[in-house]
Amino acid sequence: MSKPKTKQWIIDCVRYWETRIDETDLGVDFAEAHERCWRCGLKTKYLQKCHIIPKSLKGKDTPDNTIPLCCFCHDHMPDVRGNSEVWRWIKHTLEDFPLARFYNIELRPLMGLKMSGIDLLDLAVDEADLFLRQCERYVRHSSSHFNQSHGGQGIKPETWSWIFRKSYAKVLKARLK
Ligand SMILES: [Zn+2]
Repeated sequence: MSKPKTKQWIIDCVRYWETRIDETDLGVDFAEAHERCWRCGLKTKYLQKCHIIPKSLKGKDTPDNTIPLCCFCHDHMPDVRGNSEVWRWIKHTLEDFPLARFYNIELRPLMGLKMSGIDLLDLAVDEADLFLRQCERYVRHSSSHFNQSHGGQGIKPETWSWIFRKSYAKVLKARLK
């Protein structure tokens, strides 16, 4: 089977933006911008055509108003008339989650960790070990979700937050013993 052809709108979009924005502000390098979400770097065949200024606000369906995102990021994208807000949003995400700049690190657990308010740097090495084992356990007590608004199959940030809080509570309990 031949490799699926990259959609023309994505090619046009990369061609337009690669000379106009700094890739270090994005979740992808332009070399891979045809196949990954520009915000979270997720590799997916289902990149969505997202409008920087929404069509409902008379945004155009042209490369200068288009950006490929995964459906999870699409759902979180700001819908405003200002055309710099989307770029600010992406840059800000990466400042919050610097690890997301490296590929294959999912943004959702990192968002969940932020929601949980837990600082992993508080953990001693053996505690970190216990924490990870507990996370594995609580992942089995949670579920991924097939849902457009959560980027297809995946554990939601809200679920990750629960997993981290439950696991952290176990660490605190062990500390008291
Ligand atoms: Zn994404």
